[in-house]
Amino acid sequence: MGAICPKIAKSTGDMVSLRSECVILKFLKKEFMSETDALNIPKSSFPRIVIVGGGFGGVALAKELSGKEVQVVLLDKNNYHTFQPLLYQVSTGGLEPDSIAYPIRKILQDYPNFYFRMAELQQVLRDSKQVVTNIGKLSYDYLVIAMGSETNFFGNVEIEMNGMAMKSIPQSLNLRSMILENFEQALLTDNLHERDALMNFVIVGGGPTGVELAGALAEIKKGILPKDYPDLDTRRVQINLVQSGDRILKAMSEKASKKAEDFLESLGVQIWKNTRVTGYDGKKVTTKTDLVFEAATLVWAAGVKGVSVKGLDAGDLLVPGNRIKVNDFNQVIGDPYIYAIGDIACMQREGTPQGHPMMAQPAIQQGRHLGKNLVRLFEDREMLPFEYKDKGSMATVGRNKAVVDLKKYKFQGVFAWFVWMFVHLFFLIGFRNRMVVFINWVYNYIRFDREARLIIRPYQRDYSKFNEPRIPKGTEPNG
Ligand SMILES: Cc1cc2nc3c(=O)[nH]c(=O)nc-3n(C[C@H](O)[C@H](O)[C@H](O)COP(=O)(O)OP(=O)(O)OC[C@H]3O[C@@H](n4cnc5c(N)ncnc54)[C@H](O)[C@@H]3O)c2cc1C
Repeated sequence: MGAICPKIAKSTGDMVSLRSECVILKFLKKEFMSETDALNIPKSSFPRIVIVGGGFGGVALAKELSGKEVQVVLLDKNNYHTFQPLLYQVSTGGLEPDSIAYPIRKILQDYPNFYFRMAELQQVLRDSKQVVTNIGKLSYDYLVIAMGSETNFFGNVEIEMNGMAMKSIPQSLNLRSMILENFEQALLTDNLHERDALMNFVIVGGGPTGVELAGALAEIKKGILPKDYPDLDTRRVQINLVQSGDRILKAMSEKASKKAEDFLESLGVQIWKNTRVTGYDGKKVTTKTDLVFEAATLVWAAGVKGVSVKGLDAGDLLVPGNRIKVNDFNQVIGDPYIYAIGDIACMQREGTPQGHPMMAQPAIQQGRHLGKNLVRLFEDREMLPFEYKDKGSMATVGRNKAVVDLKKYKFQGVFAWFVWMFVHLFFLIGFRNRMVVFINWVYNYIRFDREARLIIRPYQRDYSKFNEPRIPKGTEPNG
């Protein structure tokens, strides 16, 4: 490898012998290649970097390492990368799931020394430098944890059991099915109370996910439901956005919050601020005040936490929110062979005492930066500390309605909406996906439509992971 050859050159002082030494190394590498690991990954003379997670951070890192003298093994429990910012459009029938997912193998197919295995990480064995997965063990020279985050129910099991999360494509499809099934059911009941509950949506969390989902549902209420369900009084559909704080989009400017609120209200969304949801039994949403919602759907978009990694879960390695503490180089505190990037990593320092925002940009930037740093490490050069370049944030509420906060400029409305669309198209992976999403958006814009409103896989709640199921009466699976 590059790092070895110059050292050999120094010792021989002659370029001809340098080349011949490199040829010998290449031959030796081939020899090593005949040995394989449990996951059938050939051994190589190059250092093996195992990346767990093919999300924004993991993919950015893998791309940065392409063409470098390393062996990269990327593990993900799915064989696709998910573009999470558009999940709400899958949930609301605006896009097919395939257009926001991309096969990880296709991302890596042109890179030499790259291996992908569809595997779920179960444990990290730091002493033996191995990862344990559902398909076997794999050794690493360097391990990068890029496993992202999961929905944080803050320990409220009842809400976890009966509410809906929207963090993955299967969850978005569940939500899509559930929304549509509710309307099918609402058609069949004579009980007005029950019908209203089936058409009552409570979204908890006034961040971008909650705001975007509420806006999309309001547009469905206005443009689609009256045509699809002419025999249902869809004016009674309610979309409630509940926020514990005193403003929505609290990570953005006050102007953006205010404008997003105006946009949502103009679409008929009811916003409940300073209201903390305390429980949901599948029928009734309770709050800290005496406000109660009778609703068949509660979407929990009120927080995320780092995914748990057995072996890296000791209290001193984590911060509240289950993120792994890393130093300025994304190195896990106290372990020179393990790094963490993206949502799961928390780099606490001046300016970012809570770590970087759990968003795509910090993950992408950390992935790219770590790739450069690992190369520096192998070349015996000092690693450089990570510096986050905040490119701003944005959220859309619906057609012609978005808010954008850039460093210097803040704007809202139609232009913001075009910027929002352009940025999302730009960061989608794959030319086909960009085209499909773009065509869908143009079609939906012209036709006021969302044609992916299909119940492909009827939704059935899975209570099996809860030890003591507390299934509300009347909502039992198949009940
Ligand atoms: C609905 C929604 C909307 C969002 N909107 C925006 C937005 O508008 N703008 C923005 O900047 N950010 C947005 N985000 C946040 C953004 O998507 C995340 O910050 C970003 O995905 C983090 O990247 P990551 O690489 O850390 O993790 P991820 O992109 O989540 O990738 C983690 C990967 O790890 C894999 N994985 C997890 N556990 C295991 C395991 N045990 N074994 C193997 N593989 C595993 C997963 O399958 C996944 O592929 C949104 C998130 C959601 C859920």
